[in-house]
Amino acid sequence: MSEGAAKKEDKPRKFQAIRGTRDLLPPETALWNRVEQTVHSVFATFGFGEIRPPIFEATELFARAVGGETDIVSKEMYAFEDHERPDLAALRTTIAYRNPDVLNAWSVRLYIEQVNEFVRAFEDAIEKREIPATPDNLRALDDLKNQVPRASMIGTDPASNVHITGGFDPIIAGIRELLRAIQFGDVITLRPEATASVCRAYIEHNMQQLPQPVKLYYIGPMFRRERPQKGRYRQFYQIGAEILGGTDAPAIDAEVIEMVMTFFDKLELQGVQLDINSIGCRDCRPKYVELLRAELLKVKDKLGPDSQRRIETNPLRVLDSKLDSEQTIIAKLPHIADHLCEDCATHYAAVKRQLELRGVLYRENWRLVRGLDYYMRTTFEITAAGLGSQNAVCGGGRYDGLVELLGGPPTKGIGFAIGEDRLILSLQESEKAQSRVTSHQSLLIYIAWMGQNAHATAIRAAKDLRNAGFSVELPPVEQKFGKALGQADKLGARFALILGDNEVAEGLWTLKTLADGSQQKLTEQDLLDFLRKL
Ligand code: AMP
Repeated sequence: MSEGAAKKEDKPRKFQAIRGTRDLLPPETALWNRVEQTVHSVFATFGFGEIRPPIFEATELFARAVGGETDIVSKEMYAFEDHERPDLAALRTTIAYRNPDVLNAWSVRLYIEQVNEFVRAFEDAIEKREIPATPDNLRALDDLKNQVPRASMIGTDPASNVHITGGFDPIIAGIRELLRAIQFGDVITLRPEATASVCRAYIEHNMQQLPQPVKLYYIGPMFRRERPQKGRYRQFYQIGAEILGGTDAPAIDAEVIEMVMTFFDKLELQGVQLDINSIGCRDCRPKYVELLRAELLKVKDKLGPDSQRRIETNPLRVLDSKLDSEQTIIAKLPHIADHLCEDCATHYAAVKRQLELRGVLYRENWRLVRGLDYYMRTTFEITAAGLGSQNAVCGGGRYDGLVELLGGPPTKGIGFAIGEDRLILSLQESEKAQSRVTSHQSLLIYIAWMGQNAHATAIRAAKDLRNAGFSVELPPVEQKFGKALGQADKLGARFALILGDNEVAEGLWTLKTLADGSQQKLTEQDLLDFLRKL
């Protein structure tokens, strides 16, 4: 092999962030931090506490909560099987798939012993939560414990030998069947959203025993295998809040919306538009969905393939369509507001009144149905400026049956999720946010030091200034003053603190204001006082 070829082969792969994911970098991350600090302070004033659920959960949790027919569950989840006991899984494979046919009483006994050993280890692993205690696994364990003693009998009954040599005894075949049904790990999924996790946590920690309602919020990454574009990523961040338990009083719906609007207001988000709707309950919605389906079937030929499919799977989603060709058809469809049951209609009217009492401006949008199955009654969406086609920054709604669906007690629930990436994009579009970030950073002080004595003083000065809360850049190696000042300029520092032999000897430090080149001599104490006054 020529040297050139060898070099080519050695060249390491150039790694890039996975499609749909990205690095958030400074100075942008300063804006992310400001947004998140605003979340903590505003949400706390509404009595919310932070929850940090895990990033992955059992796939079944999302399948149940979000709904099997949704895009998220049917095609966008990052799911994989997680194994903790490969040794037990291998033993299962041997005794359920690979063992030679059992031919006589002696080999039956050996086989049963092996199965017994497996069952003991299996039970132990379930107890230690190394293997998930799914209903299927618990049933397999129970059945195995019943079947194994029966199988042992075969070996002791001489008459049964004839039967065994003829092929597989049905009891042993049954055992092999049970072994094959065991799941060694949970099928887990990187969370595509966090409401399901919060409800799971509510149930797991018996939060129904706390004073109701329980108000929780979260901030963190979500994962969906969507087609990436501006404002749409495969790893994206959500800021969400949930109110669980207590009543479904319309004032709760209004207050949670008021909180999001207050938060956006504090951030000076531009072009905020709140849309609301009611999508009814378990009583009235199915009737409306059937009516909608019947109306859609009449115009099926004029709809695109996606909407045609949705007539069967989820007719409400047709209302979401952005296809130009479908707009005039959709405009003529029946409105859900005209088909709400009395309770839902009263609830919706009261939510609107409560929003008005809080001075929250809204627009009614009968086509707002939201993508997830669990919503009922109040739904809302907020759009903002500067985002193009992906302009929804927040979606939310009421989901009263969800906790129950996940095995918990009957519980009322409402919540929302803000797309943090989109929120940041919109804020970046408005210059205000940008200038605030840079002005915060421009307090930087660059320490230009020369000489070993000055280095010791510079190290101490950096420690004191940082302790006082100032951002300090301390070059690790000596630089000529000219070069140091050039570097300070490039970093956007506001001041250069010049420390040479003279400054150290006199105890008077030189502070240069980089914007106008002016200099002043200050004692360390005066320097701190001067900076604090800025
Ligand atoms: P959802 O959980 O689908 O109701 O979404 C709530 C909010 O999360 C949306 O309004 C968006 O702002 C944001 N969002 C949803 N999916 C994505 C994505 N793939 N990339 C960026 N933001 C997203």
